[in-house]
Amino acid sequence: PSSNPIVLYWHRTDLRLHDSPALKAALSLNPSIFIPLWTWDPHYVYRSRVGPNRWRFLLESQDELSKSYKRLNPKQQLWVVREAPITILPKLFKAWGITHLVFEKDTDAYARARDEEVLQLAEKAGVEVIVRMGRNLFDPDELVSKNGGKATMSMAQVEKAAQNIGNGCPERIVETPVEGEIPDAWEFERMRLDSDFKVGVDEKPDLNEGFRTGKDKQYVSVMGPKNDFGVPTLEEIGIKIEDATTPHRGGENEALRILASCIKDEEYIGRFEKPNTSPADFEPQSTTILSPHLHFGTLSVRKFWWDVQDILEKRRKEKKSVSTIPTNLPGQLLFRDMYFGAQAAVGDAFATTYGNPVVRLVDWHLQSKNLENGSETEDDTRNYTVDSEEAEEWFIRWREGRTGFPWIDALMRQLRREGWIHHLGRHSVACFLTRGGCYVSWERGAEVFEELLIDHETACNIGNWMWLSCTAFFAQFYRCYSPIAFGKKWDPEGNFIRRYVPELADFDKKYIYEPWKAPIADQKKWGCRVTGDGSGSSEKEEGKTYPKPMFDFDKRRQICLDSMKNAYDVGLHGADKEVMDGSWGEK
Ligand code: FAD
Repeated sequence: PSSNPIVLYWHRTDLRLHDSPALKAALSLNPSIFIPLWTWDPHYVYRSRVGPNRWRFLLESQDELSKSYKRLNPKQQLWVVREAPITILPKLFKAWGITHLVFEKDTDAYARARDEEVLQLAEKAGVEVIVRMGRNLFDPDELVSKNGGKATMSMAQVEKAAQNIGNGCPERIVETPVEGEIPDAWEFERMRLDSDFKVGVDEKPDLNEGFRTGKDKQYVSVMGPKNDFGVPTLEEIGIKIEDATTPHRGGENEALRILASCIKDEEYIGRFEKPNTSPADFEPQSTTILSPHLHFGTLSVRKFWWDVQDILEKRRKEKKSVSTIPTNLPGQLLFRDMYFGAQAAVGDAFATTYGNPVVRLVDWHLQSKNLENGSETEDDTRNYTVDSEEAEEWFIRWREGRTGFPWIDALMRQLRREGWIHHLGRHSVACFLTRGGCYVSWERGAEVFEELLIDHETACNIGNWMWLSCTAFFAQFYRCYSPIAFGKKWDPEGNFIRRYVPELADFDKKYIYEPWKAPIADQKKWGCRVTGDGSGSSEKEEGKTYPKPMFDFDKRRQICLDSMKNAYDVGLHGADKEVMDGSWGEK
């Protein structure tokens, strides 16, 4: 019946209607019935670490997509089913008589395995599958293939590979569907799923328990509480709206609005150089904050690229100054592709040290769980300079924004509250946690980012953590960010700290980066004592307190430098034999 296609369009990484090659391919089948679908994947719902802010951004984006479909065709919506794709899709193929399944290509390790299985299930059901690229400038697999089959580990490699794909440019964007171009879904009665589709447990999922234990809990009805395949509310998934404090809004309209306002400022686009944008700016921030929109696909990365290129081209013709790759905006988008290419080549092991051929092994005070399981024995001979309890405490204080270093704490509190921090802010806190302070494994830091970022993207998060910890991509471990001098350079008045660490709002700028140096009389005058560890338990003083620094930074920096040098001299990688068989660290 391909003359009468019944098309299931599976939205995953593309919560948009504009510039979607996959959506275009689906619509050009000329469907008699068209069903845009979102499957509630338990991997995302229960197993990954997703904080309230990212949930909110996702649901807002889905809600808007659903409304956009409705606007183009009042009989349409985003049809959300609450069940894993592997189990629900075969049932839907049958119930709705699907002839074609269409989706955007996803090269994340988990997604690849899932899609491989879906492909087989579709084949069994006689459903034709169409997959199109659209999530990156260049197909990560193609990037890898043009890089000699190897992970893309530098911008030079990415640029060279890209030259061999499209002369260094991604494909031009495709049109957005307009009114009349979105066919109907089945009549609602035919969409309805009967009791065969009721799944599992008759209680509401407990998000925390779900992702800690990895239990596969399911919703009572795949169609949602109103039986209308609606987009869930925060309440339905057990999140309090007051916990989702991010000011950054989801949805395709918001993404296009932000892009358009950036593009309108030709000076900004033309001169944009990442290292010159301030991590301490707020309202407005100094970069685009389009990363969460690229993550959820509410913005097409190719549209971003071409809109910027058109401005750069115009300025070149007008002989106006134009910044260049890698510091300009196209350069930023190529960094994103670089990490996608690296992940596509390495696969599952990209997200860990264990088994990862590109990552350098470092004897962190706190290793990832994988390595501990592999190699820690009672008489572990690794050269710990502090015991791991102390390092665990540092890690917790870092995560909670109470290290006693106001620049670090302000950033970590911004991250928790808003779900986004500037790239150089991420540099500061990641360097501090790993090779420039705590000497804690980058994997522990990446987990915290995974939970708190609204733009969390496995390839970019993992890749950047490796970069900052000097375990891959970047090797100049002797270049370290000071938690005092670096922030001061950007924001001598300390306004960023005053905003996110309000206890210190009245401190003189002389002490705002090092409040522990302020005389007690001044601390009292400014209404905040520097004492305790910020946990609220050790302070005996009445009134506001801010913690003392958790260590002497200069001493820690030296220890880190010496240890990094040693790790580089040893030169082991995550996939080396000693790591894989657990003999690393034995005498
Ligand atoms: P802009 O400066 O406006 O750049 C435009 C776009 O380019 C961004 O939206 C982003 O898609 C891309 N981009 C810019 N810099 C990078 C980079 N270094 N790596 C990859 N892509 C880049 N970015 C994520 O998208 N998801 C993550 O989970 C993530 N985790 C990070 C973790 C650490 C430790 C560090 C140091 C960086 C991380 N980044 C991550 C990269 C970068 O910090 C963000 O992409 C950027 O700050 C987003 O803000 P923006 O959209 O205003 O960026």
